[in-house]
Amino acid sequence: MKRTFSIEFFPPKTEEGILKLRAARQQLAQLKPKFFSVTFGAGGSSQDRTLETVREIQAEGLAAAPHLSCVGSTRASIRQILRLYQTHGIRHIVALRGDLPSGMPDPGELRYANELVEFIRQETGDWFEIEVAAYPETHPQARSYREDLLNFRRKCEAGANAAITQYFFNTDAYFNFLDDCAELGLSLPIVPGIMPISNYGQLARFSTLCGAEIPRWLGRKLEGYMDDTASIRAFGLDFVTGLCERLLAGGAPGLHFYTLNQAGLTSTLWQRLGLGE
Ligand code: FAD
Repeated sequence: MKRTFSIEFFPPKTEEGILKLRAARQQLAQLKPKFFSVTFGAGGSSQDRTLETVREIQAEGLAAAPHLSCVGSTRASIRQILRLYQTHGIRHIVALRGDLPSGMPDPGELRYANELVEFIRQETGDWFEIEVAAYPETHPQARSYREDLLNFRRKCEAGANAAITQYFFNTDAYFNFLDDCAELGLSLPIVPGIMPISNYGQLARFSTLCGAEIPRWLGRKLEGYMDDTASIRAFGLDFVTGLCERLLAGGAPGLHFYTLNQAGLTSTLWQRLGLGE
């Protein structure tokens, strides 16, 4: 099995952010990831920025995969985005439900990611390679682990080619999830999403929002470094390197790095893991 190593960015909002991302991309392109994915927000201007960022990546001769979420959208508007992506020769997409921003009450016409995947297949056949999201520690809104797992199966069976997980720090959660998926007959690659650790406050906030568990010992240790960012980064690198090593040794079909548009930690992890060799 060929493993897949990929990298995620968000579309920058400012000219300064655009320049910083270009520099980060130049550094990360040397690692030769399979693709760079670019996140997508509900609402017009942010969606344009996803396409602009993807176009820049393509223009540099690199493979790009825009994310696409369906929450708050109509079938017609999603069809339009799909056509646009096709026009620009985009063949790879990360299909999500997304989260409704506050102040946007209408959930839209497609309620869940499985409906979006089905719609993409209906509209465009096999044009796109489709990735979906997976939650080894359970999606925060799910009624139960089992229901979430069965909902994951729905979007796989609707036509996904592969999945990327929410980040996690506990390998047992991932391997248990893989076993349960195999039991349901799912054979698509489920690639772990990896969050490098650079800032405890930000990580704690993200983790509460997305339902990722920071093990107590890890949280207390990171918290204990207070403002000592050099120590947080050094310890975080050791911890995340170990996590990735255990995942790959246990058979993970690749890794997807959430870079938050920063090149440094992802580059170092990549080198420490020997992924370029
Ligand atoms: P779904 O798979 O639709 O699941 C959402 C919830 O609904 C779950 O609790 C599930 O159990 C339940 N559910 C699913 N299907 C059904 C059904 N048919 N009937 C009843 N219940 C159901 N967000 C963004 O806004 N932009 C991004 O670019 C983005 N990129 C992401 C990339 C990755 C790899 C990951 C892991 C997440 C990303 N997110 C992004 C966050 C994601 O949009 C949120 O986690 C969102 O809340 C769920 O999206 P989903 O596609 O997993 O939803």
